[in-house]
Amino acid sequence: MSMTPHEVSSSLRPVPTPSTSRPASHKVSGEQLDRLIGRIFTEGSRHTAPVMAPYTNSAIREVPLCSADDVQEAVRRARIAHKEWAKRSFAERARVFLRFHDMVLARQDEVLDLIQMENGKARKHAFEEVADTAITSRYYAHHAEQHLSPQRRMGALPGLTTTWEHHHPLGVVGIISPWNYPLTLAMADAIPALMAGCAVVIKPDQQTPFSCLWAARLLDEAGLPPNLLMVVTGRGRDLGSPLIQAVDYINFTGSTPTGRIIARQAGERLIGCSLELGGKNPMIVLDDADVEKASEGAIRACFSNTGQLCISIERVYVHSSIFDRFLSRFGERTRALKLGASFDYEVDIGSMSSQDQLEKTEEHVRDAVSKGATVVAGGRARPDIGPLFYEPTILTNVPKEAAVFREETFGPLASVYRFESIEEAVTLANDTRYGLNASVWTGDVKFGMELGTRLESGTVNVNEGYAAAWASVDSPMGGFKDSGLGRRHGAQGILKYTEAQTVAAQHLMPLAAPQGVSERRYSEVMSGALKILKRIPGVR
Ligand code: NAD
Repeated sequence: MSMTPHEVSSSLRPVPTPSTSRPASHKVSGEQLDRLIGRIFTEGSRHTAPVMAPYTNSAIREVPLCSADDVQEAVRRARIAHKEWAKRSFAERARVFLRFHDMVLARQDEVLDLIQMENGKARKHAFEEVADTAITSRYYAHHAEQHLSPQRRMGALPGLTTTWEHHHPLGVVGIISPWNYPLTLAMADAIPALMAGCAVVIKPDQQTPFSCLWAARLLDEAGLPPNLLMVVTGRGRDLGSPLIQAVDYINFTGSTPTGRIIARQAGERLIGCSLELGGKNPMIVLDDADVEKASEGAIRACFSNTGQLCISIERVYVHSSIFDRFLSRFGERTRALKLGASFDYEVDIGSMSSQDQLEKTEEHVRDAVSKGATVVAGGRARPDIGPLFYEPTILTNVPKEAAVFREETFGPLASVYRFESIEEAVTLANDTRYGLNASVWTGDVKFGMELGTRLESGTVNVNEGYAAAWASVDSPMGGFKDSGLGRRHGAQGILKYTEAQTVAAQHLMPLAAPQGVSERRYSEVMSGALKILKRIPGVR
């Protein structure tokens, strides 16, 4: 007789029902939502589509489906605004973003409500978006100039060539952002683009436009010139191509299949693109790890944002000597998590964001259990709390044939595996087509950092799940292998919005045979000079 995942888990051990919370309500008024909708760029009345609240599956508001012409006109206006903005000093641009930083923190309750309303996450996970937006604003306000101001470079011949590297803003940057971090993943790319002197046109996910619109309005108040940040709403498949056709660079965060479509279209136009895509991120827990801290860390790493996080952990590899202790503690802590649809901080885990994500999670659990996996915690939907709730779930004994073994779930689902040696752990962690994020838990931080360099992953966190590397915004963030192309954060996260230019002046003699000197003689003298240059340390 086949059993449902929950029956399996119940037959192994009693699974207490995670506690729930009574909904606290938000404070967003209808007028506020209408003002935000007014920030969308359209040139006429358009068809609309509802934005649904995951907590209740009811419509928040109807939002316009912009047309391809709207996108074209938004980019045209943004291009004009960019010309003036590009002439402003870094200090002038920075003032806008430092004001924005303060306003985001001061008015966080407004956007926390909006994020929760349209995405369904718990408030503490919504706060991560507020903090991240402030951190990114502060960082690029203070560091854009350092990354982009002209740099003297080594010339072709010392003393004879003066060389400078310049960076010019590209023009208009397009951003296609997803629903899982509707504030962060729009702003993390927009802030450096604007600080670089570009204009930006954002197409937020149709499911979650309000957080992005709130940030756009706040930037208006912070002093961003009109038309410099345009927001168009609609379906990706309708607006993606017109946007890519019109802009000078495209940023995309979302699934790997859609990323490939974007890259093909950007390739056709020979414009740059940056793609942050899927992940099947591993965590390695070494035998010297603090089991208590590692299991607590695994909770955050696997279940933050209901697991709908590109850098969240889905595979946990634990050394066999501590496997049982870890699994027992991880399971116990997971079962104690509080699920709820509440606009305050008392809830640990919120709702999933869409029926598709819920069904994928259910399917991965069902499939794994039918092939022999064991449910350690969770394993069932919770329609009693809300239509899209699913319990944070831990599986073990997952066979290779199960879809969850390799495929990204993007839900609150973690599989725990055992390893015997570090070599085996590294091989298992790297055995994936993805390479976005990884985590290592150990008592020896230095060893953990070295081990991190052997993992095929754009970010690695030691004794943390994802936040240490992500929030280190001075350092690049992005994916190896099928997890993406390009980087956000740090120097790379702003240089990509510029056209690099080298301006070099030649003095005294040309880089060719001077008049009256034969080509043979010139080549002999040059060869001799190059041999000498190789020995001069400053010229290497
Ligand atoms: P998706 O890639 O289809 O959508 C992400 C964004 O791309 C949305 O704004 C969407 O409107 C837009 N889009 C869709 N098709 C497009 C097209 N042809 N051209 C241009 N833009 C297009 O992802 P999804 O359906 O929302 O989620 C499916 C899976 O994607 C998830 O299960 C997860 O694996 C992954 N995902 C990853 C992230 C991330 O942070 N890396 C975010 C969201 C989803």
